[in-house]
Amino acid sequence: MTWNITLIPGDGIGPEVTEATRRVLEATGIDFCWETASVGSGAMEQYGTPLPESVLTSIRKNRIALKGPVTTPVGSGFRSVNVALRKELELYCCLRPCKTYKGVPSRYQDIDIVIVRENIEDLYSGIEFEKGTKEVSDLIEYISRTKGDKVLPDSGISIKAISDTRSRRIITFAFDYARKYGRKKVTAVHKANIMKFSDGLFLSVAREVARSYPDIAFEDRIVDNMSMQLVQKPNQFDVIVAPNLYGDILSDLCAGLIGGLGLAPGANLSNDIAIFEATHGSAPKYTGLNKVNPLAMMLSGVLMLRHIGENENADRVEKAIAGVIAEGTYVTYDLKPDNPASAKGTSEVADAVISRLASGQA
Ligand code: NAD
Repeated sequence: MTWNITLIPGDGIGPEVTEATRRVLEATGIDFCWETASVGSGAMEQYGTPLPESVLTSIRKNRIALKGPVTTPVGSGFRSVNVALRKELELYCCLRPCKTYKGVPSRYQDIDIVIVRENIEDLYSGIEFEKGTKEVSDLIEYISRTKGDKVLPDSGISIKAISDTRSRRIITFAFDYARKYGRKKVTAVHKANIMKFSDGLFLSVAREVARSYPDIAFEDRIVDNMSMQLVQKPNQFDVIVAPNLYGDILSDLCAGLIGGLGLAPGANLSNDIAIFEATHGSAPKYTGLNKVNPLAMMLSGVLMLRHIGENENADRVEKAIAGVIAEGTYVTYDLKPDNPASAKGTSEVADAVISRLASGQA
């Protein structure tokens, strides 16, 4: 069988890590037909939009995409393609497993946490009001009239909306995931003590959903306390479910616990579409240097293989990656903090994984 996959190389380090991953996935012998799609600034220049309709059509048709990171201009310019993809395709869940592999230079050696991040609403809804516009002054006037609070007239405003519907959907996903994969506990993260109507709603829905899963333990943490506890005692956590922004931040924190962004994979999921991408961004300063770690992207490829039911090949690739890390010769600079001069490049890491796959070595 041939798998049609939309391949979005992205920009910055994206093309290098996606190419390394494509080579490894093809080395399994699975028959892939890649439909390559351009988004971001490249697409902007060519098509006048950072997210051409043809890309959405390709993903909707194939239902699976492998995606490299895409740069988002800071402060001005086009809005995040990543956020737009999630909204357009209703990719409501960002699943980020954070697991340590033997030999990774890290404070901890036995982390196995899964972050389930709500992927569409919260402060990422893109509903923003720019300083000095009529819209923002109307909104400030409305706030003053209805709440009596003073928002300074030179403010910009970003709306944080958290709904019962989307909270219930992501929290239910987290509990179903825990049940399916034999996990013991779900921890909901929030700041409900301060934001009673948004995070407070998320928490009350979490408590309600938890009652339908008596076989899974449930607890909640305020996000600041959660950050400290993750750094001090991460092993107490199993599945973490969080609204969009906290989920984003905690994903990077957890990536730090398992050896860095170079090892943190992810998947963006709807009920019928899945886009696999690493947690990291486009790290523009490393573009074209054959330097960064492709393993986060490859591990995202492993998630993709499991998603399409290629579990044996997923196990083979994961074993080969684990073997390369444990052996420690063909790894990039981020896994060689004590001897960066001996680090290998992105494509050499891919070669090492492929060679292990070919020889059947773990
Ligand atoms: P980043 O993740 O790109 O890089 C931060 C740092 O992490 C890098 O400087 C590097 O030291 C390290 N790093 C990242 N990936 C690595 C890898 N594979 N191997 C080794 N080290 C790695 O974060 P940033 O600098 O904040 O963001 C750069 C751009 O990426 C921004 O435009 C941002 O919007 C975008 N971004 C895109 C996505 C996505 O496409 N899903 C996700 C996050 C950020």
